[in-house]
Amino acid sequence: MSWYVTVFRLVLLVALSAALGWMYGYTREAVILVLLVWIGFWLYQMQRALLWLANPEKPPPHTFGSWGELFSRIYSQQKKSSKENAQLQSTVEYLQDSFAAMRDGVVMVDKQGAIQWLNRAVEPLLGLRHPDDTGQTLTNLVRAPEFNEYFLGSDYSKPLQYLAVGENRSRYLRVDVTRFGEGERLLFIRDVSSEVRMENMRRDFVANVSHELRTPLTVISGYLSTILDNSKELPQRYIRPLQQMDQQAQRMENLLKDLLWLSRIESEKQDDERENVDVRALLQELKDELGEAYPEATIALNIEIEDKLYGNFRQLYSAVSNLVINAIKYNASDCPVTISWTSQFGRLRLQVQDRGIGIDSSHIPRLTERFYRVDDSRNSATGGTGLGLAIVKHVAAAHGATLEINSRLGEGSTFTLVFPKSS
Ligand code: ADP
Repeated sequence: MSWYVTVFRLVLLVALSAALGWMYGYTREAVILVLLVWIGFWLYQMQRALLWLANPEKPPPHTFGSWGELFSRIYSQQKKSSKENAQLQSTVEYLQDSFAAMRDGVVMVDKQGAIQWLNRAVEPLLGLRHPDDTGQTLTNLVRAPEFNEYFLGSDYSKPLQYLAVGENRSRYLRVDVTRFGEGERLLFIRDVSSEVRMENMRRDFVANVSHELRTPLTVISGYLSTILDNSKELPQRYIRPLQQMDQQAQRMENLLKDLLWLSRIESEKQDDERENVDVRALLQELKDELGEAYPEATIALNIEIEDKLYGNFRQLYSAVSNLVINAIKYNASDCPVTISWTSQFGRLRLQVQDRGIGIDSSHIPRLTERFYRVDDSRNSATGGTGLGLAIVKHVAAAHGATLEINSRLGEGSTFTLVFPKSS
């Protein structure tokens, strides 16, 4: 609006000066004079604007017309953006303060891997100095190869846990990395030594108790079977209780065996006893063994690929054997249990399928918990220990695989171990 007024003023001024000049016979000179004054005024305002913009926090110079409007617009825009900047700055400071107060170590790393910011808590964990190491390349400062390999890799889907060996003390650290912005990374580092210690104590306790109970139990079941072998010499009324005692002793033995095996799988190091496992041979051996143990069951093999699996033969054998024994136990009597070895979407799939009673979907998420039972009556009938699927889950985790469970009540179940191709 003001622009039109300015143009109108200029035109009016030129017209008036032309008219006045015409009266005295100096039309052109009058118009040139007026225009020169006009240009001079604009140059003056421009100079004031430049001086003011060098220090725009001050109020704008006082003037009128288009220049006045321009100054006041710049001034209000300036005030708005400095308010926004102050807000942003206080948010950044607030976030940095809260990260600084955290007990976990926090490091922000830029696209090139240089430290942008770090808190004090990270000092004893990664051996960095706050704030002196800002700007340094993180992997040049951290000495742990596991850390550097993880950080330089691109897969941060799972946190890294490793033993950081220090001069005074060693500790277990857990590192979570989150990407943000344009390739920047945020690292959270936590000392999980006490959690790891507790977990080791729990595992050792279970393993020790199982081990200690095994010997007396072997003696008891040994005597029980000797006594039952000579059952003709026993009074009739003792035979049934003794048979039940023998059955329960066997159940306890199976339970202890599974508990010991589970704690062994948990404590075995990743590379222990690893080899290229011939899956075809493993499945054939399993079929023969279970075929003898369960002559009433039909086991079908569907081997579509010859890929070998890099892993621990005994662990893999026990995982598939648990799945197949479950499938046999819960299968419909006239249907086969099918074991498949196939490849799909670049992943290797070891699948065990039955057409039995199936599992209600509400139970599936908890099925791999230790001692989880769909219903107790099922288990007293089948004599399971409740540890079979926990073993399968641990073997899967130790091989970088996942366990997929698909089941429908009354239609059957499919348990699939999905391995990455390179394993
Ligand atoms: P268990 O030794 O009792 O079989 P598992 O951990 O192997 O223990 O299995 C947990 C529970 O999952 C079982 O008690 C059973 O109810 C259910 N389950 C496992 N496999 C199957 C299957 N193939 N069909 C139906 N139910 C199953």
